[in-house]
Amino acid sequence: MPAGLTAATGMDALTHAIEGYTTRGAWELSDMFHFKAIQLISQNLRDSYAEAKSGQPGSGREGMALGQYVAGMGFSNVGLGIDHAMAHTLSAHYDTPHGVACAMLLPIAMEYNKPVVTERLAQVAVAMGVDTTGMTTDEAADAAIAAVKQLSADVNIPKTCDGLVEEDLDQLASDALADACYPGNPREADHETVKELFRKIMA
Ligand SMILES: [Zn+2]
Repeated sequence: MPAGLTAATGMDALTHAIEGYTTRGAWELSDMFHFKAIQLISQNLRDSYAEAKSGQPGSGREGMALGQYVAGMGFSNVGLGIDHAMAHTLSAHYDTPHGVACAMLLPIAMEYNKPVVTERLAQVAVAMGVDTTGMTTDEAADAAIAAVKQLSADVNIPKTCDGLVEEDLDQLASDALADACYPGNPREADHETVKELFRKIMA
């Protein structure tokens, strides 16, 4: 698998784990899978990406193979959320690779959901290896969002979606709200809110 695909599919797996950890249906059993998956992916994606670039073998790829599988064991039981609802829509309209769409939207979805899943996002920071000692829950949740942004940057995920224009936003918002993943989101969003979230990745 080339480096770009390693980055995109790896960030997709992280999105499965984080959305699965904060989805409406999350419970003890799915939490167990998702927390572990976030740990594995955070520990291995950079190495896996470096191995893909250099062609040198290492433990990163095996770690990602395990991490994406554990994430799948979790989210396939409880669903996802607005990140995947919006990412499916972007891919349908602009052919954006699924993992790239998920990764660009992940910090935006986390920020939007933060008021209703602050404690869970603080745990995401812990799973990602952030030292949250001395942080408030709110600060730890922000640290999780920062850690996701840093990981995306380290594997060269773009921050904006080419082709996304203001006149498409009504259709995009309608499609995202009709997506099968939207009902799993822990915080409801209206049409205007989804348009605003899409605007954040406009070039
Ligand atoms: Zn996905």
